[in-house]
Amino acid sequence: MTMLRLPADLRERIFSHCVEDYPREACGLLIGRPDYMITEAVASANLSQNPEKNFEIDPALIIEYQKKLRDGTERILGHYHSHPDGRAVPSVHDQAQNHDSSLIWMIIQVSGGVCGATGFFATEEKSGRLAAILPGPG
Ligand SMILES: [Zn+2]
Repeated sequence: MTMLRLPADLRERIFSHCVEDYPREACGLLIGRPDYMITEAVASANLSQNPEKNFEIDPALIIEYQKKLRDGTERILGHYHSHPDGRAVPSVHDQAQNHDSSLIWMIIQVSGGVCGATGFFATEEKSGRLAAILPGPG
């Protein structure tokens, strides 16, 4: 994979969403170019039955963006979600929910309503598990 880049203004928007939804997990889509430059962050409702512990992105939003992006070069590169008072690493549940190995995962720690560490993860080909990747400069 080429270097993942997330512009500062999009990161701030994602952080705001995570703070707004605290203590529930916030989630959304990361849209970008094939060279892994993220160009848009789209907030989703968290449809999980247990939004303090898990997240589920609205499938209608995914379909909407797949259609919208069909004829362009941008696509859904991945998604983000927050871990309220948790760590910025994939949970056991996250690893189990990793059904599309092409997607990047961004996980944001929110401690006491303030965003802290942020991690980026991609599926390791060998193990099929989410492993940390380092983003490039925004
Ligand atoms: Zn998680």
